[in-house]
Amino acid sequence: MECVTRMRIAIIGGGIGGLAAAYELEKTRKAGTAVEYALFEERARLGGSLASEVVNGAVLERGPDSFLTEKPAAAELCRELGLAGELIPSNDEARKTYIVARNRLVALPDGLMFLVPTKLVPTALTPLFSVPTKARMAAELLHPPRPATQDESVAALVERHFGREAVDLLADPLLSGIYGGDATQLSAQTVLPRLVDMERQYGSLTRGMLAAHRKMRAAKNSSKSSARGAPAIFTAMRGGMQQLVDAIVARLDPASLRTGTPVRAIAKTGNVWRVETGAGQQEFDALIMAAQAWAAGTLLQPVDPDLGRDLAGIPYSSSITINLVYDEAKIGALPEGFGFLVPAVEGRAMLACTFAHRKFLGRTPPGKAVLRAFLGGMRGEAMLAESDEALLATVRREMSEILGTKAFSAATEPEYTQVSRWRRAMAQYAVGHKDRVQRVRDRIAALPGLRLAGNAYDGIGVSDCIRLGRQAARELAASAAARPVPAA
Ligand SMILES: Cc1cc2nc3c(=O)[nH]c(=O)nc-3n(C[C@H](O)[C@H](O)[C@H](O)COP(=O)(O)OP(=O)(O)OC[C@H]3O[C@@H](n4cnc5c(N)ncnc54)[C@H](O)[C@@H]3O)c2cc1C
Repeated sequence: MECVTRMRIAIIGGGIGGLAAAYELEKTRKAGTAVEYALFEERARLGGSLASEVVNGAVLERGPDSFLTEKPAAAELCRELGLAGELIPSNDEARKTYIVARNRLVALPDGLMFLVPTKLVPTALTPLFSVPTKARMAAELLHPPRPATQDESVAALVERHFGREAVDLLADPLLSGIYGGDATQLSAQTVLPRLVDMERQYGSLTRGMLAAHRKMRAAKNSSKSSARGAPAIFTAMRGGMQQLVDAIVARLDPASLRTGTPVRAIAKTGNVWRVETGAGQQEFDALIMAAQAWAAGTLLQPVDPDLGRDLAGIPYSSSITINLVYDEAKIGALPEGFGFLVPAVEGRAMLACTFAHRKFLGRTPPGKAVLRAFLGGMRGEAMLAESDEALLATVRREMSEILGTKAFSAATEPEYTQVSRWRRAMAQYAVGHKDRVQRVRDRIAALPGLRLAGNAYDGIGVSDCIRLGRQAARELAASAAARPVPAA
């Protein structure tokens, strides 16, 4: 009888990417595949950027508050975990987002799709853009610029088509809101591949977007499901993202979890991966690297210096989220909608503010408002060193100025505040990212047993991280299943 040991797999990093990988390995282990795993996480808690608390009945998200509904991996995992009843849609009926422009809140014009204005009248009437910018937006349909011949920044793409103001008032705030990023650095090819394709096909982005819109409408009309209406843009967990983390952890074998255990070094001899922690060295047959790329780069440098350099070269931004819970009666009426974005040209510390009680209903007690402010990003790294008190004072002052009310000033104390710092947590897909990731993939292909997961490669959203983590685990499990069956 043939006898082999189980495939031993190390997972480094216990954010959602590493947890998704561990969940998949646990599932396949229970189904009889000859694998065992150990998950190493340097912090005391699992979940990485996913963390939420319920305080006096209000769900407060420290990190992500939801995932994009159109990316199915997160909702699929939730359903597998028995959390289908906990998924809630964003309150899209009330969806309205403002841009702070010259110190005033201006609603994003109707018809804006992926930074592209598609409706003439709202674009002509909005006070957001100057007359020359509006004229340029209209002219883009008939006189588009020449398509780019290589990857360029999002700012360069948008400026070529719609002018500098569209960068300052649209691309910059929208991308710093999503990526904590800088439009002058982010890669158009990676972050906005749809627009790059449209430019190639149609020349004009407006023409491309209108064609896409027509196709979408036709598909909707011919689909029976249209009777049910469009799905919500975002999906959240009723009790917060921590629900997802807790549900995954509950399925894992506690003996496989090494929290509070930073991995200090990795070595590879033949087909054996050696993982060094404060507790000593442990040997594995395979390794899923789910730590941030800068940490992965340092750890993998001795194994493959080129790979280490490419990973360490992926830039990251840091961010700060601040939740403030108020009695609605004390702060007065907020503007309609989900919140506002602050362009860098406004010269403020805040990047954005979400009216969290409006975005997802049923997660805040009646009569309470939860305001979630974002600070930091690529240009605000230094703010991480400021005290909670200083950050709270800045946010309350800026909110009072932007919303034109004294309601957030010293006179009205919030009922609860929570400050969270996320140091180098968000990967930035800079110009040339696609080529860098291809080089990384080529190097990985020459290192059997190594897989990458996490937000640095193929999508920064929660759903992308879950998809990549599970895929890495499935690939390794498949190679374990292909090995001879262990003796009973
Ligand atoms: C404030 C904020 C808001 C966001 N909002 C959204 C949103 O609304 N929707 C959305 O889809 N996405 C959002 N994102 C993005 C998304 O949350 C992240 O991209 C995703 O959670 C990253 O998961 P990850 O597993 O790749 O990395 P992380 O969560 O960063 O996990 C990596 C883990 O590796 C560990 N680690 C590092 N080095 C070592 C080592 N040497 N040894 C052991 N462990 C190590 C770290 O401690 C960390 O826990 C947001 C992110 C942030 C920060």
